Amino acid sequence: MATNLPLIALLGNPNSGKTAIFNLLTGMNQKVSNYPGITVEQRRGNAQLADNSTVEIMDMPGTYSLTPESLDEKIVAQQTLKWLNGTDRPAAIISVVDAGNLSRNLFLTSQVMELGIPVIIALNMMDRLKRRNQEIDSVKLQKMLGAHAVIPMSAQEKWGIDELQAELTDVITKENIEVCSHIQMKIPEEIEKIINPVSKFLHNKSDRDNYITNVQALRLITRKSAFDLFCECENLNGAEIKSLTLLRDKAIHEIDELGLNHRILEATLRFEMLDNTLKNLSLINQNEIKHQSRSERVDEILTHKWLGPLIFLTLLYGIFQSIFIWATIPMQYIDSGVGYLGNYCVQLFSPGILRDLLVEGIISGVGAILIFLPQILILIFFMTILEDTGYMARVAFMMDKLMNKIGLQGKSVLPLMSGYACAIPGIMATRTIDSWKERMITIMVLPLMSCSARLPVYALMIGAFIPNKPILGFLNLQGLTMVFMYFLGTVTAMIIAAIISRFIEEKGKSSFVMEMPPYRMPLAVSLFRQVYMRGKLFVKNAGKIIMAISIVLWLLASFPRPESNTTSFSIQNSYAGKIGHAIEPVIAPLGFDWKIGVGLITSFAAREVLVSTLATLYNVEDEGDDFIGITEALKNEVNPSTGLPRYTPLVALSIMVFYVYAAQCMATFAIVKNETNSWKWPLIMIAYMMGLAYIASLMVYQGGQMLGFV
Ligand code: GDP
Ligand code: MG
Repeated sequence: MATNLPLIALLGNPNSGKTAIFNLLTGMNQKVSNYPGITVEQRRGNAQLADNSTVEIMDMPGTYSLTPESLDEKIVAQQTLKWLNGTDRPAAIISVVDAGNLSRNLFLTSQVMELGIPVIIALNMMDRLKRRNQEIDSVKLQKMLGAHAVIPMSAQEKWGIDELQAELTDVITKENIEVCSHIQMKIPEEIEKIINPVSKFLHNKSDRDNYITNVQALRLITRKSAFDLFCECENLNGAEIKSLTLLRDKAIHEIDELGLNHRILEATLRFEMLDNTLKNLSLINQNEIKHQSRSERVDEILTHKWLGPLIFLTLLYGIFQSIFIWATIPMQYIDSGVGYLGNYCVQLFSPGILRDLLVEGIISGVGAILIFLPQILILIFFMTILEDTGYMARVAFMMDKLMNKIGLQGKSVLPLMSGYACAIPGIMATRTIDSWKERMITIMVLPLMSCSARLPVYALMIGAFIPNKPILGFLNLQGLTMVFMYFLGTVTAMIIAAIISRFIEEKGKSSFVMEMPPYRMPLAVSLFRQVYMRGKLFVKNAGKIIMAISIVLWLLASFPRPESNTTSFSIQNSYAGKIGHAIEPVIAPLGFDWKIGVGLITSFAAREVLVSTLATLYNVEDEGDDFIGITEALKNEVNPSTGLPRYTPLVALSIMVFYVYAAQCMATFAIVKNETNSWKWPLIMIAYMMGLAYIASLMVYQGGQMLGFV
């Protein structure tokens, strides 16, 4: 995407509708550099305006203020400091505001308006106000704030977007736009006196107008995080940092002596100013209170002490059960499609290495994963709904106390839940956790949440070896086994978190301020776009690895070829067989044979590769040209030393437990290395997870045998 286009930045609170507006403005014309799930990375896209000019739009992480407390906020604060210094300045800022929550949302807007960049306020969610017969006088609001424009709109009902585009055109075509915020904090004289030495210092560094300098001084004094970021961004040298620290400490001391809390000084002054301003804008009416109480009444049930968790568990169970039910038919289609394609290729090409590679390596390997796509998409679908309706925030709220006990916080819940889909977006989402220690613990245990890549392994093992038996009339043994695997991973994550929290030292403490968004109908478009994007990412990223592994594996499994054509080729003698056999003594106590051993190794690329490995191993071993259903192949496998079936429910259970714990995803370690900026954490992660997997499987298999299961 060209970078010399006028840049427009989208800023706003989390859940104010930034992404929805971003999508409306850019359509499919966007470059997403982040992982699926949370808007952590910047998303950029081009938007075509009515006069055919193009602008580049940048979606920024959601924040409540420019104080850099969490990592998300730091990203935004850092960016705005750069703008203030004249680097990468956008032509305009769209400040997205939830119209139903004006004063809280305008907090950030008022800070943004101090940057000297034209601000267009997108007064979003007006549909909800309209439904409650409320209006906002946007012209009056615009005058009061001194914003470039205030556009009432609804990203959900898709109106107001033309007006927004028109304002963008206006901003980029006009030259020398006068920018001036009409809402400035009143800094009382005695406070101004106290912060004056700091202001003077700042003024000497960069010559800005008095008010801006005072605001900055106030922010640096108010929050240590802002102070640190400032020193970093302005490249202060050691001596400067030292003298600024002294000035700051002195100011803090004096403020506290006045009986004020320096930690909330900026917030206090700003909210005071906003309240005074908004008082003149009569828009809050009785309905607001009534509506809130409806949401509160729902909350009384959904976040009830024991009813809440019960509802949550029931929901999870329902989701996993419906994954099985809904996915069956599309899976059958994909299965027969892959089978058909394989047979077709068998007929099309003459026998030879190339045909074998295509049919036995690529088609059978990739097909074995593709078949699980419906399940993964359904899981992503439900997770996105829970997130978008605002229910996840309630879960976080409910869990905060419990999470505190194990060294985590309510904000850890959402990343951990995302981990059910994929650890990678989950790990990236931990950036919203403002305490370093809690963030680290969350990252360390996150891969224990059963991600969707384990789903194929569970599904294969459960489908083949766990009987489809009703339990207590309405439950089902297969569904329960699946829930148990998720439960096992989750509970272990909790225990490990509690243990790790004793070993990690605190670096800065957390302040738990949690957003409780109103319940909301998810936007169908954005819901399906999310499912599509995450699905695509899964197929694209996993697909590449799976294709490569399938080929390598086929090579390993098909070579070295026997010297003469008379001796029939056996996989026992292949490279793969040799590796598998070599590790067999180590894994035999877990009930695994050498074929599973080969799968364990290839699973390092991604867990689901086990399925395609087994598919490839069994197809290669089968000398015929026909596809054998992998399930059938597993069921038919006989243990040569006993004459009994090789795979029993106990072996299947041992395999599943191993996959609950084992560290088997290279992509995850790469992300952990990135996010923690050290090799230490990913290495510790691999070591503890592998140890856990081995011990747990050993206990399951040996224990099961002792109890008389086979
Ligand atoms: P972001 O966190 O600021 O990027 O917010 P999103 O764009 O992800 O939107 C948060 C939620 O609000 C989603 O569930 C959207 O469907 C919903 N939403 C966005 N815009 C509107 C709107 O104008 N009206 C209503 N009722 N809901 C909206
Ligand atoms: Mg967003």
